[in-house]
Amino acid sequence: MFDVNVIRKDFPILDRTVYGKPLIYLDNGATTQKPRMVVEAITDEYYSVNANVHRGVHYLSQQATELHEGSRETVRRYINAKNVNEIIFTRGTTEGLNLLVATYGEEFMNEGDEVIISVMEHHSNIVPWQILAARKGITIKVVPMNDKGELLLDEYEKLFTERTKMVSIMQVSNVLGTINPIKEMIATAHKYGVPFMVDAAQSIPHMKVDVQDLDADFIVFSAHKVYGPTGIGVVYGKEEWLDRLPPYQGGGEMIKHVSFEKTTFNDLPFKFEAGTPDYIGTTAFAKALEYVNNVGIGNIAAHEHFLTEYATQKMKEIPGMRIFGEAPQKGGVISFLVGDIHHFDMGTLLDRLGIAVRTGHHCAQPLMQRLGIEGTVRASFGMYNTREEVDALVEGIKRVSQMF
Ligand code: PLP
Repeated sequence: MFDVNVIRKDFPILDRTVYGKPLIYLDNGATTQKPRMVVEAITDEYYSVNANVHRGVHYLSQQATELHEGSRETVRRYINAKNVNEIIFTRGTTEGLNLLVATYGEEFMNEGDEVIISVMEHHSNIVPWQILAARKGITIKVVPMNDKGELLLDEYEKLFTERTKMVSIMQVSNVLGTINPIKEMIATAHKYGVPFMVDAAQSIPHMKVDVQDLDADFIVFSAHKVYGPTGIGVVYGKEEWLDRLPPYQGGGEMIKHVSFEKTTFNDLPFKFEAGTPDYIGTTAFAKALEYVNNVGIGNIAAHEHFLTEYATQKMKEIPGMRIFGEAPQKGGVISFLVGDIHHFDMGTLLDRLGIAVRTGHHCAQPLMQRLGIEGTVRASFGMYNTREEVDALVEGIKRVSQMF
């Protein structure tokens, strides 16, 4: 049984106050709060196991390695990858995207080749491609959207040419909440013989992501957005693709043998993991995924769907309310503006009421240009948010609106 009040007890930070008001944390799209067991996993490992992984014959090193590699297996199961070799640990989504663009671009893209992205991408799925474009002369093509925030699939298909070498698109928009029909879009790319990488930063915390069912070639995500620690992320890649990519960084762990004349690289997944990994972080990350599994991703999705529908309906009653992103398939994100109140003023005044929301362009300036605005206020939900918190948000927006 899903009981939000039981869940909240596992998140100590939710008991704190800000400006003397109970904290209402609605910035889960930026990062989620951590359950007690995730934080305890960090201190427990530092206090009782800490040793470098993969290197020591001694007891602690072996124990740390078992925890670290056990976490890789937990991630594999979470996304239903075929094999642990397909799970690469990174620092987060941004590093994962940079890793893929740099290595895939190096091996498979040349001047005049094309990548397809979308108008709603996060900067971390735009800028690495622009860096590659400057280096290699590739072309970036952009899938447009309609005013509800849905990608135009006919236009998408028209973008494919014989020079298309990759599609790289987000599964859920961090601004609009749109759940893109990624499975269908992957099938289209494969019809043209083109691989597809998915920015799953905003989908992994909120819905079941099965890489085999999607038939995704690559996906990337961050632990901190799914109740895990900061500084850890994942690149999933089909083994046959990862095998063909060159290493990203050089150093320890990623080699088999080094001499001054020649170096041979390690097998997957270590080929992409140069240096000491954040093995404490991976243990805590696995705890977060176990926590989500215990609550049930289906329960989380249903709860967040309820909150989003309820909030949308209540917010629409506020005079001057504009909501950006009204796709029928939508996750727990509501971006809005009221009248001509600046998003920054709205966010600052809500903060004074204890309500934490995000304001600004949300690392999606090209999307802001498409919408003809500079920024929005964004409320984004997590598993521990309540209907009462939505009521407080709505009351807060009304109070701020009346001040202007
Ligand atoms: N992609 C999307 C859709 C995001 O929402 C974010 C974070 O806000 C990122 C990528 C970047 O994630 P990180 O900062 O964890 O690397």
